Amino acid sequence: MEAEIKGIKDETHDVKTFRLEPEEEIDFVPGQFCLVSIKEEGFPDDSKPFTFSSSPEKDFVEMTVKKVGEFTTALHSLEEGDKLELTEPRGKSLNFDESVDRDIVFIAGGSGITPFISAIRYSIDRDLDHNMTLFFSNREYRDIIYRTELRHIYEDYQRIKVVNTLTHEEPDHWDGETGLIDREMIEKHVDDLRDKIWYICGPPPMIDAMEELLEDMGVEETDIRFEKWQIPGKHD
Ligand SMILES: Cc1cc2nc3c(=O)[nH]c(=O)nc-3n(C[C@H](O)[C@H](O)[C@H](O)COP(=O)(O)OP(=O)(O)OC[C@H]3O[C@@H](n4cnc5c(N)ncnc54)[C@H](O)[C@@H]3O)c2cc1C
Repeated sequence: MEAEIKGIKDETHDVKTFRLEPEEEIDFVPGQFCLVSIKEEGFPDDSKPFTFSSSPEKDFVEMTVKKVGEFTTALHSLEEGDKLELTEPRGKSLNFDESVDRDIVFIAGGSGITPFISAIRYSIDRDLDHNMTLFFSNREYRDIIYRTELRHIYEDYQRIKVVNTLTHEEPDHWDGETGLIDREMIEKHVDDLRDKIWYICGPPPMIDAMEELLEDMGVEETDIRFEKWQIPGKHD
């Protein structure tokens, strides 16, 4: 279906959020994505997967896009009023809603935060009572998408904990973690690992490392949900 760009927000130096008005209502579950193509002249004739980053409770739809290659550069050059074509929502592995009856740990690398911000926003909109811990790994402070919103959520909701880690710098004012997410960091912030559902989203090497670590720490394979991103061709 066609969707018009109604607003564009700079989130970081290389990430933008697009607010879209689809011609029909889109019925998605937090964690789902769709294939996006550009309906304007002179743009690549291609479609790529992007996740809904807004809460399905809202009367708008948003997608947050990191510029990494040809298609995402083309998306970043679009303006309000330009049109996209979206497929129907798809994907199951990262879905979150009230049917999940355990506490949650999200592990996100960079733009892998998008399915989880949708889930967190939705859980706030619906006043759900899951305890949620978000580990959010970025290279540098300037890369942290939704930094202010996540800080407010952490301050305002006792049931939602946000653990930021930076892997490539430690600014003077930094009060989060540094380095890759490891056993020590997880044990410091999460009790009763085996009682949780674990969601992981980010670059494939990070997912492999986290899955191996969690299984080493005694988490059941069936309690780990993940989506590997940036595999060219996988969702074409
Ligand atoms: C289910 C799903 C949901 C997604 N949701 C989001 C989202 O919400 N937000 C978001 O920003 N991104 C999301 N992505 C990732 C996004 O789809 C890609 O970043 C996008 O398709 C890249 O397109 P591109 O043409 O700009 O870059 P490409 O040219 O396709 O390059 C993308 C990346 O892959 C690398 N690459 C390219 N070709 C190869 C190759 N042959 N071998 C190895 N590496 C290669 C490039 O260096 C670059 O880092 C999602 C991906 C999936 C699978």
